[in-house]
Amino acid sequence: MKGRARREPLLIRPGARFECVGDGLCCSDIHAVGALTDDDCEMLAMISEDAIDRHEEEEAAVMMMRSDTGRCVFWSEAGCAIHARLGANMKPTPCIQFPYALTATPAGGRVSTQHRCTCRTLGPLPPITEDSARPCLLDANGELKMEHVVLDEVPWTATEKIPFAEYQAREAPLLDALIAGRGLKNALDAEPFPALEGTTWDAVVEELLDFRGPSRAATASRWFGEALGFLVERRERTEQGRPWADAFEHAGARIVEPVSPNRVFGDWLADELWSMRWTHYGSLARARAEWATRLAVARRIAGWLDVSTPKRDNIAAAEAVMIVDVIGTTDPWDKVQRAMTEA
Ligand code: SF4
Repeated sequence: MKGRARREPLLIRPGARFECVGDGLCCSDIHAVGALTDDDCEMLAMISEDAIDRHEEEEAAVMMMRSDTGRCVFWSEAGCAIHARLGANMKPTPCIQFPYALTATPAGGRVSTQHRCTCRTLGPLPPITEDSARPCLLDANGELKMEHVVLDEVPWTATEKIPFAEYQAREAPLLDALIAGRGLKNALDAEPFPALEGTTWDAVVEELLDFRGPSRAATASRWFGEALGFLVERRERTEQGRPWADAFEHAGARIVEPVSPNRVFGDWLADELWSMRWTHYGSLARARAEWATRLAVARRIAGWLDVSTPKRDNIAAAEAVMIVDVIGTTDPWDKVQRAMTEA
């Protein structure tokens, strides 16, 4: 196993569940749907002149979102028009891949999922299998497309690097605890809001609150900023409304047996751990503190939503996870990750 990173065999995270039931939340401006491949752009250009939004600074093309609905130009209550007219496989590559991601490791390709769609977080869902994940992970050449690579040296702390096999053994009890939703803070064994280099939590709050405009991403940023401001400085909260109410109410109707918030939070954190994207920023010890921070924010947000019944509690936790998952992918949070100091 030692040595190079491998994409095969596909390693499905234990307990991971997903099925696209067409809620369409992932087709909204909660994130940029991209980057589109050249083939995607060619295909989209044949269908519509207004399908592509080009981000020149980043040299990337993404799906155009409608300014009035904050949704992709192909989305309607009936679902994705490309999917309906041309079939699932004709959708742009990022749409086929979402919410899957692949990390190559010395043991094989770890399949993880993003948690910013109700199709991933609410209602009874089938287990992810190799067969269900594989078609979503292929690039235009039919090759498994990896987003991240981990070699045979994993940073456990700022001063300790361990072989991947040893990492797997040490990771196992943490993964089990997260999947079970058991004692999450104890399992993470880290304090939230670690010291930041070159900035302060106050400045982070200001930047998140300063994201103005009607988009869902902007509203998510303000929810996150308000929760963070409350936790680190006891700032007053101002009402933000729920721009996703329709999507979460619609998806919440699928719930048969409500899942506890700790199971929802643990499921999200288990994917963060399994993806190993955190190695991009430093050690697992640093990542634990970052997760403890976003977990505290998610719990605060969920507490501000309706938690009057087990079902409402389940929906609130899923909505809070969507916000912290979205903000976790933004430039302001990337800066926070880089500023987090290692003990
Ligand atoms: S092309 Fe279809 S699947 Fe992709 S974002 Fe638009 S509506 Fe969603």
